[in-house]
Amino acid sequence: MRVAVVTVGDELLRGDTVDTNATWLCDRLDERGVDVERVTTLPDRIADIARVVNEYHAEYDAVVVTGGLGPTHDDVTMEGVAAAFGRDVEPHTEALEWLTEHGGYHAADLTEGTTDLPAGARMIPNEVGVAPGAVVGSVYVLPGVPEEMKAMFESIAREFEGTPTYSETVHTTEPESQLLDRIRGVQEEFDVTVGSYPGDGVRLKITAVDPATVEAAADWLRDRVESED
Ligand code: AMP
Ligand code: MG
Repeated sequence: MRVAVVTVGDELLRGDTVDTNATWLCDRLDERGVDVERVTTLPDRIADIARVVNEYHAEYDAVVVTGGLGPTHDDVTMEGVAAAFGRDVEPHTEALEWLTEHGGYHAADLTEGTTDLPAGARMIPNEVGVAPGAVVGSVYVLPGVPEEMKAMFESIAREFEGTPTYSETVHTTEPESQLLDRIRGVQEEFDVTVGSYPGDGVRLKITAVDPATVEAAADWLRDRVESED
């Protein structure tokens, strides 16, 4: 399964907020064996959201969008996603029912627009906050608040599936430029992929579908690179 992640928020593009949602989602999707092939950050602007969601919906098996939910004027993600499908947003009956039955809200207390979702969307309840999420086609729209986003993702995680892989990391004190022969060697010897991450030595991350292969490849490398211990 190939997925794109889209994070929305002017504050992310200004450097005011660290995009922890993207990293967290990539990690959870990777754990489930899903290939995340894009992470894109967009401003709170309907046209940009509509264009990118439309393009990614055509290209990937699913799109996960976070941020810009809620009834305030600067939160326009639901409008953008609706526009990507040529739809409007409209009050969602089930979202209102959920908030009044489980969320402890009276309909009259909810700010106008709180339950507006793209027409025909499936509602995802927000167990931690107020703003509901939505699924339109294979586009999942989750809140920006990290705790709300995480709880909501866990409630739909089963819908994201791929072939889980296993990884092991080998640390070496050698510079990356000296390691090329062994990085090539381990990939010739074993059916694995190798990520090379320099910074305080080099971390070589070995990944494969079969855990025994990963372990054998990591042992092979450990025998051939210099390390502190
Ligand atoms: P929003 O509903 O997207 O306007 O944002 C609600 C809160 O979540 C704000 O404090 C945002 O800065 C924060 N937030 C939004 N998107 C992200 C993200 N991708 N990573 C971390 N925090 C975020
Ligand atoms: Mg916002």
